[in-house]
Amino acid sequence: MPKLDDNRRTRLVQVFNETNGKCLHGHNYSDCPDKSHDFRLESKLERVAIPKIQLCLNSSGNYILNRSGLRDYLEVYTVVKYQAQYLVKDNLRDWTIKKLLDNWTEYDRQEKNADWKSEYEIRHKLQSDRQYPLTGRFSGVAKDIFYDSQPVFYLEAICFDAIRSIPIAKIRLASRQEWLLVDLPKNLFSKLGLRKAIRYNKIAKTVQTIIDNACLQAVKTHILYFSKTVYPD
Ligand SMILES: [Zn+2]
Repeated sequence: MPKLDDNRRTRLVQVFNETNGKCLHGHNYSDCPDKSHDFRLESKLERVAIPKIQLCLNSSGNYILNRSGLRDYLEVYTVVKYQAQYLVKDNLRDWTIKKLLDNWTEYDRQEKNADWKSEYEIRHKLQSDRQYPLTGRFSGVAKDIFYDSQPVFYLEAICFDAIRSIPIAKIRLASRQEWLLVDLPKNLFSKLGLRKAIRYNKIAKTVQTIIDNACLQAVKTHILYFSKTVYPD
């Protein structure tokens, strides 16, 4: 029996008034044209035992004969399940109320289950637990590795400051919407090196190292100055 609050009581009374004195097809009893409207089919899972003749064999596989010289046998039963259909006398009122109560019982059961489940999770989960999955493509471990190996800055362009006539680098700080313009040494590129850089988009390794060091130094200074956090060497 489900819990009956005020809403459900009201609904029950309403259903009772709507369906009282009616056949299963919704006619009033006085003008129902067919007496079969008072019956409905109910299916039930039933089991039935079916007898089966099993001939008896001895250990060497030959038939055992009885006193009259015939093959001896055992009668064994196998159980078979089937859906049995029953004709049940019913009326609209009882049938509707029964279905309504069944629905409410099922609803209560599911609600109770959900409550229990959420409470269990709250009780057994620690505050320090990881919120993201432990397996999969971007698992907890993969995420740690990914964030630990991020570059501090991205070099976006190397260009020329026309006023001071020195090369400068434009870099973007990682995980910030911030760009820095870094001064580079005046004679960074030789004539040939500059031509190579423009023509083939290639920079010599020594030059690349100089640029990287200058940018890293600039980023360190910037972060120290603006966030007051100690940046690891
Ligand atoms: Zn009827």
